[in-house]
Order: sequence, then structure tokens, then C-alpha cells
Amino acid sequence: MVHFNLFAKLIEGCPSMGIRFVFFILVLLLIGWIMRFLLSQRKSASSTQHKPTIRKMQQCAWCGVHFPLDEALHEAGHVFCSQSHRQNWLQQNKDS
Ligand SMILES: [Zn+2]
Repeated sequence: MVHFNLFAKLIEGCPSMGIRFVFFILVLLLIGWIMRFLLSQRKSASSTQHKPTIRKMQQCAWCGVHFPLDEALHEAGHVFCSQSHRQNWLQQNKDS
């Protein structure tokens, strides 16, 4: 145990230096503990904030815009982003 002997000699030889050394290690441990705490906090926060919300997207048959399926208006097997686009599409289909 060379390192331990060296450490013991350091404390014996110069008590104030030994205390300072122990204090330094304690501060390092404290910093390490705080860092780990902060990192775990950030990790848990990001895992809740960046929860991917998977919404199925659909393309409007009139304007081609992609929008969430739960906002879609259905008509004759097509989906539309809004009531007006659905009516526009129906109007065009009636004419042609
Ligand atoms: Zn549209």
C-alpha cells in the first residue's frame, strides 16, 4: 500500500496540508455528487418533455397539406383539412 503510506506520511509530516488534501477530496466528491444529481434531473426532465407524440398524418385531397388524421374530414374515401376544402373538392367533382 504505497499510496496509503504516502498519504499517511503526508498527514504526519504536515497536518494542515493533510487536512487540506482530505478537504479537497471531499469537495471533489461533493462536486461529483452534485453533477450526477443535476445530470439525472436533466435526463428525467428531457425524457418527459421530449416524449414523441406520434400523430398519424394525412394529406388533404384539395390543397395537399399534411395535417393530423384526428382533424380530418372524410368524404368519398378522401380526407380534407377543412370544411371549405371538402366543399371545394365536392364542387369540382360535381362539375367534371
Ligand atoms: Zn386542404
